[in-house]
Amino acid sequence: MKINKHFLDLQDSYLFSTIAKKAAAHVEANPDAQVLRLGIGDVTRPLPKVAVDAMTAAVAEMGQTAGFRGYGPEQGYPFVREAVKAYYVTKGVELDAEEIYVGDGAKSDIGNILELFDRDNNIIVPDPVYPAYVDANIMAGRKISYINGDEGNGFLPMPDSLTVKPDVIYICSPNNPTGSVYSREQLKAWVDFAIENNAIILFDSAYECFISDKTLPTSIFEIEGSRKCAVEIATLSKMAGFTGVRCGYTVIPKELEFDGQSIGKMWMRRQATKFNGISYIVQKGAEAALSPEGLAQCKENVDAYMDNAKTIAKTMTELGIWHVGGDNAPYIWLKCPNGMTSWDFFDKLLAEAHIVGTPGAGFGAKGEGYFRLSAFNSKENVEEAMNRIRKVL
Ligand code: PLP
Repeated sequence: MKINKHFLDLQDSYLFSTIAKKAAAHVEANPDAQVLRLGIGDVTRPLPKVAVDAMTAAVAEMGQTAGFRGYGPEQGYPFVREAVKAYYVTKGVELDAEEIYVGDGAKSDIGNILELFDRDNNIIVPDPVYPAYVDANIMAGRKISYINGDEGNGFLPMPDSLTVKPDVIYICSPNNPTGSVYSREQLKAWVDFAIENNAIILFDSAYECFISDKTLPTSIFEIEGSRKCAVEIATLSKMAGFTGVRCGYTVIPKELEFDGQSIGKMWMRRQATKFNGISYIVQKGAEAALSPEGLAQCKENVDAYMDNAKTIAKTMTELGIWHVGGDNAPYIWLKCPNGMTSWDFFDKLLAEAHIVGTPGAGFGAKGEGYFRLSAFNSKENVEEAMNRIRKVL
């Protein structure tokens, strides 16, 4: 028996464990300090009430003979697919409910969809970005080429920086960790480029709900031509606070074909074999979160996080610290002052302000020298953190 040796190519994911260890050591050494955590990408506010009520009712339903349900459809119950479809109508995007595949969240689909593609494809990944793209491809022994984000391009790399023929292109907008959002024109350039090169775009829209600027696209399917080249991977994790509940969905247009094969049909086949679908109870919660009342309740949470994001961005502006994000995303990506490395800045903020952030180096080589602050916290904690940062810097 031989193991998959590509696992040995993975860099150990020290980022969050090192952060946790350093924070724990700091708490132990400073028992009286109130440590403020602006490092995590997890939401902090409770679930929308309509979703809680719907899941509670679904549990009761399952406890009755008449309401009991066993295995459900792997691609999701029609009522959730219809709810997602209606949500896309609010973006001006017409989908067929059958193009929507309900799953347990974006991370799973981001990795699993690779099974549909030839091993020798060139995979294009932005740097810095959510680390799961890189690791999922390394595990599968795939070739990754990076497109670099930097201050010059506002951390929004464009196709002109590519030197290899692309096959699979990951795009994350709004981006984690930088909070940068592609404009319509920029996404159109990516779509045209993908079509010219017979490449597929995997568009991760995990943070779309934080976009308030109406001129910015919240879905790749707002862009003409995208149905011929793109898949959208979306989640209720950030929008509805479902990180611990688990529900996401992937949109695959019916006309999306490569080598004469329908990507949607291949995905359906893959999911029917390897995925059990998510529970009826969670799907009832998702349906409720996507209802007009649910969306209004989700928006209250999103607005609260975005008030925090604005507070953080404003403080960075006041302090003359270069940054992006925070306008249409819950992350603020800042340049570490005085040329510090991202871990040195992490240590300084922790030691002098008792604040935990995320070093940019954890998101790719191009993240070195930068730092991510997250708006997922209470208003009071964010305000207090900004007061402390003002004193320290
Ligand atoms: N995509 C991005 C860009 C993320 O930052 C995250 C989580 O932080 C995910 C996907 C994962 O989302 P999910 O909770 O749906 O797996």
